[in-house]
Amino acid sequence: MTTEPSLPCILIAEDDLLSRTLLELYLQQEGYPFVSAVNGREALEYFKRTPFQIVITDWLMPEMDGTDLCRSIRNLAGNHYTFLLLQTCQDSPEAMVEGLEAGADDYIIKPINPAELMVRLKGARRILDLEKSLRESLAELREHSIRDPLTGAYNRGYLNQHLEHEIQRAYRYRHPLSLIMCDLDHFKLINDTYGHQVGDQVLQQCVVNLKASVRHNIDWLARYGGEEFVIVLPETNASGCQVVAERMRSMIAFCPEETANDAIKISASFGAVTLLPDSDPIHRSGPDLLQRADVCMYQAKQRGRNLVVCEEQHALLHGGSDGTDQH
Ligand code: GH3
Ligand code: MG
Ligand code: MG
Ligand code: MG
Repeated sequence: MTTEPSLPCILIAEDDLLSRTLLELYLQQEGYPFVSAVNGREALEYFKRTPFQIVITDWLMPEMDGTDLCRSIRNLAGNHYTFLLLQTCQDSPEAMVEGLEAGADDYIIKPINPAELMVRLKGARRILDLEKSLRESLAELREHSIRDPLTGAYNRGYLNQHLEHEIQRAYRYRHPLSLIMCDLDHFKLINDTYGHQVGDQVLQQCVVNLKASVRHNIDWLARYGGEEFVIVLPETNASGCQVVAERMRSMIAFCPEETANDAIKISASFGAVTLLPDSDPIHRSGPDLLQRADVCMYQAKQRGRNLVVCEEQHALLHGGSDGTDQH
């Protein structure tokens, strides 16, 4: 019989050759892939290398018995659930309670009836499928809870939580940490002129452009407010941060949003701050960094927009010379 790809690979722990051979035969006939171990200790070693979804274990075995194997597997924190099926000759309610208390999900009496084994495995797969879909729903829910639905950028809740983690990491490893606040210029005018749907598209495109300007999987971006974004750059000093902010500024200013009628020109103002744990040992908070970046961004607005202002210099670094509209 050919192996169904959806059937999970089963780990067998059985010391008795005849019982093991029979079990292997039953599984083979139904297309289940399997790996066999001759005692609990060997099975546990296999399991540590490959976290099997289903384990069928004998109870009485040398070196490590079935209940100890169940307990050991339950103590390993895996990414998914493992269904443990305990097989034994001990046909008493006390034995059943002891086996299930050790962490087994189900119990089968030897000699094994192949039809009974198959329905128990069917039940195991139902539980595993259910657990998988629950795990996927949870992951999806978590993803939704940390993302802004319009742009896909992280939301404010994520920013608040993870900025503190980044700050703690920066102090722990004594690495610099930079943060950029970005605010689109005269965005209200875009909405008023072209409508909110076009405004939404502009916001989405801005996020694409901002993401394209930073290191994948290291730097990250959150939507702070309506047309305001925060970009966090771990292990980045002030000059590095300035280069990134400048790249973002020109990327946004040079990539007009194409609409049915017009190519809409937009620009953004940037405020940048850098935390240097070596020269600034006072523990700074996330709100403190955000507030300082906001002050710089406000200066960029005051100085004509389409600018980057870094806290270090509090100086005009760029503006207007590339021919972009200064509004
Ligand atoms: P400034 O250069 O001073 O920042 O001017 P501004 O017009 O960008 O700033 P203002 O705070 O006056 O306006 C922000 C606008 O952003 C107004 C608001 O309707 C718009 N906005 C906020 N969130 C969204 C959104 O999700 N979609 C759209 N289309 N517009 C939004
Ligand atoms: Mg045995
Ligand atoms: Mg704003
Ligand atoms: Mg604005």
